[in-house]
Amino acid sequence: MTTISNQQITIKTIKTVLIVDDEPHNLDVLNNCLRESGFKVLVATDGEQALKRVSHVRPDLILMDLMLPGIDGFETCRRLKTMEAAKDVPIIFITADTNMTDKVKGLKMGAADYITKPFQPPEVVARINSHLRLQRLQDELKSKNAQLKREITERRQAEEKHKQAKEAAEAANRTKSEFLANMSHEIRTPMNAILGFAEILEGKIRDKQHRQYLAMIRSGGRSLMTLINDILDLSKIEAGKLKIEYEPVSPVSVFKEIAGVFSQKIKEKSLKFSLQTDFNMPEYLLLDEVRLRQILLNLVGNAVKFTESGSVKIEVLTLAHKETPDRVDFIFAVKDTGIGIAEEQRKTIFDAFEQQSGQDHATYGGTGLGLAITKRLAEMMGGVISVSGEKGKGSTFTVTLKNVRKAEAADAPGKEMSISADSATIENFDKAAILIADDIMNNRTLLKDYLKDYGFDFIEAENGLEACNLARRRRPNLILMDIKMPVMDGREAVQKIKSSSETGDIPIVAVTAAAMKVDEKEINSLCDGYLRKPVRKEELVAELARFLKHSVRKSVSGHSDLSQSEVKSEPPPYKPDAETIKKIPRLIQISETEFMARWEEISDVPVMEEVRQFAVDLNRIGLEYGFSPFAEYGERLAGCVEIYDIEGMKRKIEEFPALIKQTKSVDSSS
Ligand code: ADP
Repeated sequence: MTTISNQQITIKTIKTVLIVDDEPHNLDVLNNCLRESGFKVLVATDGEQALKRVSHVRPDLILMDLMLPGIDGFETCRRLKTMEAAKDVPIIFITADTNMTDKVKGLKMGAADYITKPFQPPEVVARINSHLRLQRLQDELKSKNAQLKREITERRQAEEKHKQAKEAAEAANRTKSEFLANMSHEIRTPMNAILGFAEILEGKIRDKQHRQYLAMIRSGGRSLMTLINDILDLSKIEAGKLKIEYEPVSPVSVFKEIAGVFSQKIKEKSLKFSLQTDFNMPEYLLLDEVRLRQILLNLVGNAVKFTESGSVKIEVLTLAHKETPDRVDFIFAVKDTGIGIAEEQRKTIFDAFEQQSGQDHATYGGTGLGLAITKRLAEMMGGVISVSGEKGKGSTFTVTLKNVRKAEAADAPGKEMSISADSATIENFDKAAILIADDIMNNRTLLKDYLKDYGFDFIEAENGLEACNLARRRRPNLILMDIKMPVMDGREAVQKIKSSSETGDIPIVAVTAAAMKVDEKEINSLCDGYLRKPVRKEELVAELARFLKHSVRKSVSGHSDLSQSEVKSEPPPYKPDAETIKKIPRLIQISETEFMARWEEISDVPVMEEVRQFAVDLNRIGLEYGFSPFAEYGERLAGCVEIYDIEGMKRKIEEFPALIKQTKSVDSSS
């Protein structure tokens, strides 16, 4: 039995040739030799007949005499080339003439070739075959081209679809992150109240069982706060709201500060700690100090948390660039001898909410968001993070920041805001109305409290839209505008107010959160003045004095010029009103019991979340009792935590006993 494979079957299609000639002898010779070579032959004896034939049956090739009765070969060729059926059919002219002009003319009109009479039949057949082969190749090329075009179009459409789907997914993701960021922000405020009131109750409740319930509320609340803060950070990054701010940073000081934060915990766990830096490390690098601290707090915090014995090491290295000597690669590794991470988990450990499987939550706690945040922060600074190590034998987290610019200390911006006028010289302001726009009532209360001695009228708005409406209706003399607000943010409100002819001339002072320093330039260009939270009373008064009419305290020499140096620079001592004075003994009692115990804890080990809560609680108690030194202290300490200003935070923590002393002195002098 024989089997025939597909390749063996070749289907030979018979090709049709149309001969156009009026000479019977020529027709005979051509007809015979073509038929013998396996072609199907059609015949026409003049141009008109040829055109008619082609309109009925499309030949594969036309062999045409030039000298025809009626319309000649050239004209027939021209007309054939205009017919849809014949435009691609190769035409070979037969000419007795050796006149070169005619040959060129024929080729220009679209003829594929020519044969000179007298012709040799084998030559004719060979030429026909060669042109048919050429035609076939051309057809193949055309169909391949068409297919390619189709594929390109399909691919383009698929790419466009993919792009649209990707954009939609990214937009959805941004919306989700924005929602999460807003939600976390909104949850923080009531959470502070829950925790704060739980704190107050703790001082009042004696029943053991009730105290236990309260302790549970507080510990649950604190975990929730940590989670919310982490989600807020991560979603801010994902919504593109967190910008990296470069400034000259001394890496060695940052590493030393971080080591300081964990020194007590390291001592408690009897761990060995070492910080190894590189001799060639530039003194200053252009980095985002806040984010660098955040990364290190996460990594070193984890190293200490997950290590029970042995050591925690930080190794820092810079690699010089030959081509760009003003740049280096900045590499730091945090190594520990702790529990380590199994290989299969190392791949997922940087994902949000990932912790090692089977990890005891009661022992280690955490949210599983720290490394996800750290990874994104490193990437935003043009870097990468990796982890190595072995289960049970410790871990090494390495961050490599590429192409970091070297900097000079002189480039470092001044950290303190300059005070434009000396507030101590201001005796009083003329009657004026101030619009305070801030969604958080406590913030508005604090500003009013600072200004309560100056007899201003206050108008309050809880969002940007309200601020715009009130600005138009009440035409205040100045607006204090918070930037982050619901419904309409401060930025948009300022643009609206400034662009209206009714309100455009009202001076606006922006009040922004400490962590929002990124927008400083933009805010400066939008507003007339700018204050950073936590606002100090002197800064606020001095800023108002730039825009509002006021009288100044006469100096000893009798001058009243603001710029002179003899004016008294000490702020007046804090004088609370009678209502507040009555509450001070209770305030002192709370401070010396609950707050002092917490203060001792955070002075020993300044766990960021504990410090933040301490600050927020003090701020709230201060506002509740109308005692602004407490509120201000709490707000400033919270501000340090917010931007990971560890040195500032430590200084502020150290000031707490002095704050209690000040409170006592106010109490005894009243
Ligand atoms: P969290 O510490 O809040 O759980 P992270 O994102 O910082 O969140 O860490 C995620 C997980 O990665 C940790 O829960 C732990 O399982 C693992 N991990 C992180 N750092 C270390 C480390 N130094 N040693 C061992 N495991 C670690």
